[in-house]
Amino acid sequence: MKDEFVLTRVNGKKTNGNGHSHHFTNGHDTIGENHIATTIDTPLRKDAFELSDDEKMDQIAEKFRDIMETMGLDLTDDSLQGTPRRVAKMFVQEIFQGLNPANKPVASVFENKFNYDEMLVEKNINVNSTCEHHFLPIYGKAHVAYFANGNVIGLSKINRIVDYYARRPQVQERLTVQIANELKSILNTDDVAVVIDADHMCVSSRGIKDGCSSTITAEYCGKFKDRGVREEFLKYLNLK
Ligand SMILES: [Zn+2]
Repeated sequence: MKDEFVLTRVNGKKTNGNGHSHHFTNGHDTIGENHIATTIDTPLRKDAFELSDDEKMDQIAEKFRDIMETMGLDLTDDSLQGTPRRVAKMFVQEIFQGLNPANKPVASVFENKFNYDEMLVEKNINVNSTCEHHFLPIYGKAHVAYFANGNVIGLSKINRIVDYYARRPQVQERLTVQIANELKSILNTDDVAVVIDADHMCVSSRGIKDGCSSTITAEYCGKFKDRGVREEFLKYLNLK
């Protein structure tokens, strides 16, 4: 059974509902300019982790220096000198560290001792990611909900899972589904929903230069396919 996936591009912030939306079914839809999602797994080479992080940083620094020099920048300038190394470190240790499964947060689950059987919602989780088509920031909020099936998860763990999948070159649709799949597997339930509302710098600062659109993606699984359940979740998102 295919989980429902909805992508909505909204003109003007937080006007959920009147944007264009379509169902994402076969993984080959074209979504916006140059934004083509292919698979749910991040496309990685087989040898992705043969180099150590230090070796990767050395190579990236060297190559980034080449890029800067090709653009005509004088790397002997005090201000530019350290940039290749700084960028290499930032790529490997910070903004793309979620490529490496070794950095995946360990998910500790707890028995649902309170027998809480209503929907649990964690909203406004920071999303700091990077568009894989332009290597520019994607930033916004994720909202997550689930119904416990015997197990619950520490709330900060949800933030860590969102952050882990965000810290890699991404498309928003894939990020949304990867977070949902991870939660389904940790919590041993299908009853999971993930909504992400994010701004893409590749849309706001280049190309079409639309500074006031945001993109909303949603993955509703299990009980959340039910319209009433979904509406309850969306209602909580509007509460202050
Ligand atoms: Zn982009």
